[in-house]
Amino acid sequence: ATPTALLVGTGRGASLGVIIAGPDVLERAKSVRVIAVDKTGTVTTGELQVVGVTAGGGVTEADVLGWAAAAEASSEHPLAQAIVAAHPDAPRPVDSFENVPGEGVRAVVDGVAVRVSRPDAVADLPTDLLQAVDASQARGQTAVVVSRGAAPIGVVSLADTVKPTSRDAIARFAELGLTPVLLTGDNERAARAVADSVGISQVMANVRPDGKVAAIRALQETHGRVAMVGDGVNDAAALAAADLGIAMGSGTDAAKEAAGIVVMRPDLMLVVDALRLSRSTLRTIR
Ligand code: ADP
Ligand code: MG
Repeated sequence: ATPTALLVGTGRGASLGVIIAGPDVLERAKSVRVIAVDKTGTVTTGELQVVGVTAGGGVTEADVLGWAAAAEASSEHPLAQAIVAAHPDAPRPVDSFENVPGEGVRAVVDGVAVRVSRPDAVADLPTDLLQAVDASQARGQTAVVVSRGAAPIGVVSLADTVKPTSRDAIARFAELGLTPVLLTGDNERAARAVADSVGISQVMANVRPDGKVAAIRALQETHGRVAMVGDGVNDAAALAAADLGIAMGSGTDAAKEAAGIVVMRPDLMLVVDALRLSRSTLRTIR
């Protein structure tokens, strides 16, 4: 491979909306066998909507949403933004706030400890709330549990939307000889619903942020070289661990810095373009 030809390849990438960190990235792109894609914000829009609220005994649905919105006010997670947007009133003052990556948030609101978290992080869910979680997940949605003090008081169900080009892009990955794998911190059923709708058969769900690197390593052991596509701050370490990290330009700076390729629009078809370009560039220089 002559350096000049490789640089032509990287230059053409820029006109397609694809930034390639350097000529060695093209070499790496050629040898990947698996493409792991983050679910939220990569395959889906990540613009979640609150689609249901279930209140436990003694509180109203508005209470549940009000406490949740107050606790989530300082979080940048797409789930948090949807909950804040769904609550009509100004959020209550928050005395303290802690983000727990891969789990949720903990805050003190009006002197009361409030938690919004993944259901499996909450012990002793009463039957009615357990059923609300189950029904939400069965619909392919994401359920979070709102607790006040030690008591779970409600469940908020959120829905995401698959991007219009995701299904086509997954089919193109397969044509390029890449096995797609959906990688997510979300629950198995929500992950499976999204995977089915875009034509992915392999799913790794309930992966904690610090487990994404281990997931990439496991794929490398079983399949060979792995590309990873992601956008979140949670994805940065996995993008760096992959043989080829690809970041969505809409994503966080941490993700972009860890990636070998950055695509300018949050569209998986641009990832297809980047992979095709890297192959055609290498072909012309043989
Ligand atoms: P993803 O792969 O969707 O980016 P994350 O690792 O960010 O997953 O989150 C995993 C799970 O943790 C979410 O599906 C949700 O159940 C819970 N979670 C994370 N952040 C929050 C938050 N701010 N509020 C409520 N739940 C959260
Ligand atoms: Mg994400």
